Amino acid sequence: MSLCLSCGLCCDGTMFREVPVTAAEAKALGRRALFNRTKTRMKQPCRALSERCCQVYEDRPAKCREFNCLVLQRLQRGEVTEAEAHESIEDVLRRRARVAELMELPDDPVTAVERARALVAKGKASSTLRDAAERLERALLLMKADADMFG
Ligand code: SF4
Ligand code: SF4
Repeated sequence: MSLCLSCGLCCDGTMFREVPVTAAEAKALGRRALFNRTKTRMKQPCRALSERCCQVYEDRPAKCREFNCLVLQRLQRGEVTEAEAHESIEDVLRRRARVAELMELPDDPVTAVERARALVAKGKASSTLRDAAERLERALLLMKADADMFG
């Protein structure tokens, strides 16, 4: 789906930190992905993601196959146009870029978001950063169809 090729938020560490995997899935992926010590969870940003494209599409874990964010679901159901769906994704990417800008990491928004979350959690974020991070989290929450699936 072309929408996903312009997004990648559910694979690049912005939306989730890890993906549950079975032993068979971990074995099939091998070094093409990074796992926790017990190989029960695949880490994000996903090593298999390149240019917002999954490089292990045929072997991707069941949880990856099952997950469609709400924007994608609405597009598939015909409830929004492709242009509207892209605009929704662009809005989230702009919010992430704002966090990255405030963290002075404009070229590495995923790391910026991770660090911003840590600062917010410790109560060390400026009010501007905290507001920008909260705006991003709210938008991400609205995209998560089933937040229990992932970590
Ligand atoms: S967050 Fe949605 S649109 Fe983006 S890559 Fe994942 S499923 Fe596709
Ligand atoms: S295996 Fe593919 S679909 Fe799953 S998180 Fe990695 S890049 Fe995304």
